[in-house]
Amino acid sequence: MKEVLAPPKSAIVRNETKRIRELFEQFVVPSYSRFDLVLERGEGSYVWDVDGKRYLDLAGGIAVCSLGHAHPEITKALTGQAKKLIHVSNLYYTEPQGQLAKRIIDHIGPGRVFFCNSGAEANEGLFKLARKFGHAEGRYGIITTTDSFHGRTLAGIAATGQEKIKKGFAPEVVGFSQVPFNNVEAMRRTITKSTAAILVEPVQGESGITIAKAEYLIGLRRLCDEHNLLLLFDEVQAGHFRTGKFQSWQRILEMEDVDLLPDGVSMAKSLGGGFPMGAFWVREKFANVLSPGTHASTFGGTPLACAVALRIFEVIEGENLAANAREVGQFILGELQKVREKFSNVLKVVRGIGLMVGIEFQPEFKAADIAKELHKRNLLTVPAGNSVIRLLPALNLSRAEAEEGLRAIEGLVFDLAKKQ
Ligand code: PLP
Repeated sequence: MKEVLAPPKSAIVRNETKRIRELFEQFVVPSYSRFDLVLERGEGSYVWDVDGKRYLDLAGGIAVCSLGHAHPEITKALTGQAKKLIHVSNLYYTEPQGQLAKRIIDHIGPGRVFFCNSGAEANEGLFKLARKFGHAEGRYGIITTTDSFHGRTLAGIAATGQEKIKKGFAPEVVGFSQVPFNNVEAMRRTITKSTAAILVEPVQGESGITIAKAEYLIGLRRLCDEHNLLLLFDEVQAGHFRTGKFQSWQRILEMEDVDLLPDGVSMAKSLGGGFPMGAFWVREKFANVLSPGTHASTFGGTPLACAVALRIFEVIEGENLAANAREVGQFILGELQKVREKFSNVLKVVRGIGLMVGIEFQPEFKAADIAKELHKRNLLTVPAGNSVIRLLPALNLSRAEAEEGLRAIEGLVFDLAKKQ
């Protein structure tokens, strides 16, 4: 009888990767450029591909997986609530939504919260808030900043300060204009009688981790007070304890020992730790601007999403993960600064705040290529802009895991420097 040899495991896996990739090639809208990795499962800060290869995940689902992967408390919250009630419409009250709104308000200040399903939708809510606020006086303009990112809806791309995001989708939603970041005077010069609001990310994420100066945020608050404008912060990426405080503007101002309250804040990503949800907070003074019938979402604030988000709050606070984000973030930043000093021909700048770190390579090194090279070293990161790699890991990342990631990055930088 002829002996049948089993194909080598690597061949089976290659076929598996190919088979799954082909599903995407045939059936999924090709709007993303994806890496050639098929991920299958995760645990904590690690994920495994279909080949069984393990990666340290310092990308965190792009600042989403606040407790890492497959966290038992998230699983418990999900299954516990799913057995009771997954969804009811917003025609009714449910306790998790009310409790979660209270939790957010306790961390920001007196106001109200609206729940939705993503960051773009949270910003859309802020745009509607601004338009409704200015409506009686014919004001509708929202000034944002260059290199910002506010989501992929039509209004989101009009708000976003990056031409490549807008290209091909004209005509643009009216009323948005962009001015340079960290420049109060540019903002002042752009205010007209139709301006209703200013929207900024206190830490610009997508363009490579650019941190607002405390005096900029204070200057914007003053400007908005002088001109009766809403001050809106997009905390979708930087929020939820990632910088060491609940929201990034609170961390930036804490460093200068000052405080302020914006008029609206958008949130998403880490809020649900991977369960899709978004929210915006609006200051008490403007809580009734969006009156009954003016805004809604079928899935916004379902008991399932809110139960998960509440449990995430409990774990973050119970384990003091904000402090961990500061400490581990500071350690990563310090170590990367040393690498930059040694290899400035490869690394241009390293910047960060808490567990939001941007590593800017010299312009000849392309962000996507660097990310691919790091895959070979079992590390996941997020490319940004032309030559920046972002680290946006879980808030419970350990020092040992951070060291493992740093070794991979340093190894790559060393190899690139040798080739220079
Ligand atoms: N705002 C900021 C600052 C973001 O970083 C993002 C996403 O990266 C968004 C808005 C859009 O969020 P989503 O992709 O959930 O719509």
